[in-house]
Amino acid sequence: MSLSEFDLIDRYFRACGAKRADVRVGIGDDAAILDCPAGMELVAAVDSLVAGVHFPHGSAPASIGHRALAVNLSDLAAMGARPAWALLALTLPQADESWLSEFAAGFAALARAHDLALVGGDTTSGPLCVTVQVLGHVPRSAALLRSGGRAGDALFVSGTPGDAAAGLAIEQGRLAAANDAAAYLRERFLYPAPRVALGECLRRYASACIDVSDGLLGDAAKLGRASGCGVEITYGEVPVSQELARTVGEERARELALTGGDDYELCFSVRPAQVARLLAELPPQRWGYARIGSLRGAPGADVLRDGAVMSFSHSGYDHFKTPT
Ligand code: ADP
Ligand code: MG
Repeated sequence: MSLSEFDLIDRYFRACGAKRADVRVGIGDDAAILDCPAGMELVAAVDSLVAGVHFPHGSAPASIGHRALAVNLSDLAAMGARPAWALLALTLPQADESWLSEFAAGFAALARAHDLALVGGDTTSGPLCVTVQVLGHVPRSAALLRSGGRAGDALFVSGTPGDAAAGLAIEQGRLAAANDAAAYLRERFLYPAPRVALGECLRRYASACIDVSDGLLGDAAKLGRASGCGVEITYGEVPVSQELARTVGEERARELALTGGDDYELCFSVRPAQVARLLAELPPQRWGYARIGSLRGAPGADVLRDGAVMSFSHSGYDHFKTPT
């Protein structure tokens, strides 16, 4: 099978994603021309997924297309931005039509769900690597930053972190689960749902925000550091899904929730005076988030259990560390 680069782009990517009136020139010219609304700031993010590093070799192409976009949408969500446009740089070992059509379908479904247009990209041959750049906007000076937190702010996380790490372990045959739990957890790794709507709403409530991609504890610590403070997380408040708890037990579930990766949830801080308004106006049961702790003056990130500090290594809870 041989497919020219032109045919490939035309067939799989020209109509991939939403149609938007603000795309003056999209795929087909040397560069895209985009109409940025007045009074808005442009928010840009780019992320690459490399086969064998960010997803297992042989992953379902629809999942690769979905995730390549989802991880970027999650970055925009963390800034409180609304996504508008994306560029896609694809490096492919070969132009396999069934792979390309599934990949494009996975990308397009998520793009359309967020009214995002694919406006350009690049296609090269080589080891499988997918780079997506997303562009979105936010009202001037209204973006959420990692650095806006203060000691005393309440700390929250969306969703149930840890699911995706378990899902990946199931994908890789490192973890077994009952059928229904396995399906749920695999889906959480393969098709993460970036919290774009929540991020936009949080502009009115949050003092700081970060997306959770490398483990909740580490990413919360990054938010704390950027805000010039520390983080205290209450172990018992860390939300875990029933499916995860059933599969690995409550203890290991919380550990995965704190240290697993690939969650693409939002971790955000809220000034104490704004907490009641947040809880009333964005009901946690409906929006899917929970309070997990606070920001504090002392640097570092601690997990407290019954008042005692637990020791976690980056790779997980260290059961054998002697207290210092
Ligand atoms: P150039 O040689 O100028 O880089 P290309 O032949 O690479 O042009 O691309 C032609 C058009 O197709 C450009 O508008 C480019 O943005 C778009 N394009 C190329 N690859 C992709 C892709 N994987 N997804 C979306 N658009 C693409
Ligand atoms: Mg090119």
